[in-house]
Amino acid sequence: MFVTVSDSCIGCGVCSMISPEVFEIRTTFAVPDIAKISGREESCIDAALSCPVGAIFVDE
Ligand code: SF4
Repeated sequence: MFVTVSDSCIGCGVCSMISPEVFEIRTTFAVPDIAKISGREESCIDAALSCPVGAIFVDE
């Protein structure tokens, strides 16, 4: 699985609350740690569905 965050991210922190191991908030935007996705695919999908601006793209 591959996860990216677009520049429409507003840094709200929802993804980081859902999947703190994968998404780190750096000041005003989220950065996914690709190396930590394995085994956490479900939470990445949840984060993508919960993002208020649809900034998370998940490629299965
Ligand atoms: S949930 Fe979406 S808008 Fe909020 S920090 Fe994560 S990627 Fe950015």
